[in-house]
Amino acid sequence: MDEQCIFCRIINKKVPSDIVYEDDHVVVFKDINPQTPIHLLIVPKAHIPSLNDVSAEHTVALGHVPIVAKKLAAEMGLGERGWRLVINCGEEACQSVFHLHVHLLGGRMMSGQMA
Ligand code: AMP
Repeated sequence: MDEQCIFCRIINKKVPSDIVYEDDHVVVFKDINPQTPIHLLIVPKAHIPSLNDVSAEHTVALGHVPIVAKKLAAEMGLGERGWRLVINCGEEACQSVFHLHVHLLGGRMMSGQMA
């Protein structure tokens, strides 16, 4: 827990958010500024600032993310339509919150361009 970190504060329920799923490894909440009709943030509970900071100890939590994403995508009717996971890492990728998180995007046709 990093008291200065907005996502740690959401995870610890010190800041309100629209949480749609939670388990031992991750919290999932709606992005406050959605880029697609469905835009969720899958956030590991461990305070990992970015992909530059991952290590073997995070294998279980990070390996768990696509499984949670698949479950939520299916529940939201995206499974057959298509959906996207995105992780931004660092300045040139426009990471703005330095607590590792995975964007789950879906609900409209997206650009074929990655960046
Ligand atoms: P990134 O630019 O990849 O670091 O993504 C950070 C995301 O967090 C952005 O899409 C923001 O809209 C979102 N965000 C920032 N603060 C909050 C918040 N308090 N609740 C929900 N989403 C947030």
